Amino acid sequence: VQVMPGFVPMQYNTALGFVLCGAGLVLLATRKVGGARVAGALAATVGLLTLVEYIGHVDLGIDELFMKHDITTATSHPGRMAPNTAICFAFMGLALGVRPRGWSPARLSLFEVVFASLTFGFSAVALSGYFTHLETAYGWGNLTRMAVHTSVGFVFASSGLLGLVWSRDLREDSRLPVWLPIPVAVSILTGTLCFWQALAAEGARIQGEHADLGTLSGLATVMLVVGTLLAIAMALAAYLALQAGRRTREITAANAALRREVDTRQQAERDLQVHKDNLERLVEERTRELEVARSGAEDANRAKSAFLANMSHELRTPLNAIIGYSEMLAEELEDEGHAEHVSDLQRINSSGKHLLALINDILDLSKIEAGRMDVYLERFEVGEMLEETVGTVTPLMEKNGNRIVTRFEAGLGSMRADLTKVRQSLFNLLSNAAKFTENGAVTLAARREERAGRAWLAFVVRDEGIGIAADKLDQVFEEFAQADRSTTRNFGGTGLGLPITRRFCQMMGGEVSITSEVGSGSTFTIELPAEVSAQEAVSDTADEAHDAGEAETQIVAATELSDEALPEPGSAILVIDDDDDARDLLRRTLEEEGYAIVTAARGEHGLALAKRLKPVLITLDVMMPEMDGWEVLRSLESDPELRAIPVVVVSVVSEKATAFELGAVDYLSKPPDRQRLLEIVRQHAPRS
Ligand code: ADP
Repeated sequence: VQVMPGFVPMQYNTALGFVLCGAGLVLLATRKVGGARVAGALAATVGLLTLVEYIGHVDLGIDELFMKHDITTATSHPGRMAPNTAICFAFMGLALGVRPRGWSPARLSLFEVVFASLTFGFSAVALSGYFTHLETAYGWGNLTRMAVHTSVGFVFASSGLLGLVWSRDLREDSRLPVWLPIPVAVSILTGTLCFWQALAAEGARIQGEHADLGTLSGLATVMLVVGTLLAIAMALAAYLALQAGRRTREITAANAALRREVDTRQQAERDLQVHKDNLERLVEERTRELEVARSGAEDANRAKSAFLANMSHELRTPLNAIIGYSEMLAEELEDEGHAEHVSDLQRINSSGKHLLALINDILDLSKIEAGRMDVYLERFEVGEMLEETVGTVTPLMEKNGNRIVTRFEAGLGSMRADLTKVRQSLFNLLSNAAKFTENGAVTLAARREERAGRAWLAFVVRDEGIGIAADKLDQVFEEFAQADRSTTRNFGGTGLGLPITRRFCQMMGGEVSITSEVGSGSTFTIELPAEVSAQEAVSDTADEAHDAGEAETQIVAATELSDEALPEPGSAILVIDDDDDARDLLRRTLEEEGYAIVTAARGEHGLALAKRLKPVLITLDVMMPEMDGWEVLRSLESDPELRAIPVVVVSVVSEKATAFELGAVDYLSKPPDRQRLLEIVRQHAPRS
């Protein structure tokens, strides 16, 4: 009961109160809330009833409920617990026993914590009174005092309750409960108030004992102020610690998020690298495949070029013979008066020409497609060119009973363009007009106009024929497309004329357009710049001759240099051509002019003959085995003795530009027009 003889004893009711409080705490800790409530209520009842006794000056007979108080200490009410003990039991009991169902966990915690800290404050002050010899801290006046072990008991009990609530309210991420500032403030403030009161009460006594301490009432006030400030400071510190904890948690969470993000990024980077490697591998693979495919395509293209070159030579050479011989035969027969066979021969001749035109069209188109069609720019008078063209198409017009009307504006002037292509384009349009019109008028109009500071020439071909349906207008410029399926049946044709015309115009920086109405006729307009510039002229000086030469090396010349007695130097024309028929035809045509004709089937022989003969003129084929025409021409031009001899290139390859560049005086495509050939010979090698 007493810690030491003479010390304040613990009353029996106090012991009972501790049993109840302890039981309440244990029950609460083991989550038997009902039991804790009962124990708490009983403890509170003991405390509150004792307080009622003190305040109401009554004896409820509870002080010595269990046994008589037998320790003789000076006390006003034997067996009654101290008033501060009673207060502590009331607080602890309330904290344990009052837990209404409707309260939120936070509110309940606050309630428990406030009362537990009040208890802690009271008991801590009482305990400190024993160490500081301040009686008033544990006993008020002559009322029963709180025993030293009672105060220790309350310190433990209240700490226990605080600890319980603390552990219950602990969240995973925080070591401090949010209510921490409250018990800190409440307990320090309670302690301060109790201590201040004790100091104030015992001031006079202590002052008597220690005169050097000065006025203790002043000390009490200082104590009060310091305690209050301490309470505030500590509460603030607790609050700041909480805040710091929260910030730390936030930062930790942010850090974790950041780390996750970094991990994700790194993973993404690794994935990307894998992807990149894959991609690079794929690109390499594809590149290899593409290279194989490209070299395959190049091989195929070379094969195609060689084939085309062969075609052009192999197909056109016999055709040239057919055309040339039939023409010559027809003339000879006519001269000899066998007129009955002439028309048959003319039929052979015109069929041959038709076939040749078709082959030329197809080859032209494939050349354009392969980018190997060159544009040869030259200056010519537009009017002259038009008159010439009209001259060529007049027979066609007459066939269908059409008449041609020309409307050439004044001042057409000259133009710089590819004469052959302009002529061929106009010829295509005019021959179509003639073909699709019967007994009507075909108008060819031409005008020169300024557009954006540039001179343009417009050639308009208008007919009164069958016309073209609006939905077919675009198609007619497509290869092998005809406006009507029945066209071939009724009119013949291949559907190549217009596509070639359009390509030719585009190559010279111009265009061809069309308007038409079914039944009433069509109008085609070609527009070309008067000065086609070299950049505009989409040309490709691919060395067809070279390719062709390669393809032709298998062809062996049939004729060797003959032993015929050579004519006098300066009196013969030299014909160099590897094709027997071509040579023969040229020879027979030129003989009419009265020249001696010497022929050579191979380039080298031709050159050798030229040196010996000094001919007045040379006709030169291009595609020949071993030494081709271009080489012969180069050798001739580089020889000072031979340079002056005029060379006329007669070939199936349309390399007019190369011919002139290398020094030829003229160019004729096979089969050479007899009249034109004779004109050229008369011009360059007139008979004296
Ligand atoms: P082709 O005349 O050899 O068939 P083109 O390319 O010259 O080939 O013409 C293509 C088609 O356009 C012709 O088949 C015809 O249907 C149509 N066409 C061309 N010119 C005329 C025209 N003046 N009048 C009516 N139809 C035309």
